[in-house]
Amino acid sequence: MRKLPPEELARHKREYNREYRRTHRERFRERSRAAYVRLRESNLRRTFQLRLQSLRHYGGNPPSCACCGETELEFLSIDHKNGGGGKHRKQVGSGVTFHYWLRRNGFPNGYQILCHNCNQAKGYYGGCPHMRIGDDT
Ligand SMILES: [Zn+2]
Ligand SMILES: [Zn+2]
Repeated sequence: MRKLPPEELARHKREYNREYRRTHRERFRERSRAAYVRLRESNLRRTFQLRLQSLRHYGGNPPSCACCGETELEFLSIDHKNGGGGKHRKQVGSGVTFHYWLRRNGFPNGYQILCHNCNQAKGYYGGCPHMRIGDDT
């Protein structure tokens, strides 16, 4: 077979590519969209699993709020028992990064699971109303 000169080859390739792109553009688009959705879903799943892992470690199975017993996963969060959680999270990152950090460090002590309500109350008022009621009795 006769070898084409490089510039000829390049031209052929360009034309082929252009033609290929033209006919496959839609399919390409479809495919990358599907890939994107798949990736997003698998990321979400991974994040969810990671989160569940630390929630279970600190909050039992099923994980529940240490204060009010809330078990709705979406409401639960990791609480730094001795406070300073905000500062610490600034150092190691928040959200998924924080969960990765926990796992990487073998789920260190000093954390508990609180629901967002109890967590907020603790942060704002220094204690959750649930706890205060508990203390009075
Ligand atoms: Zn709670
Ligand atoms: Zn509470």
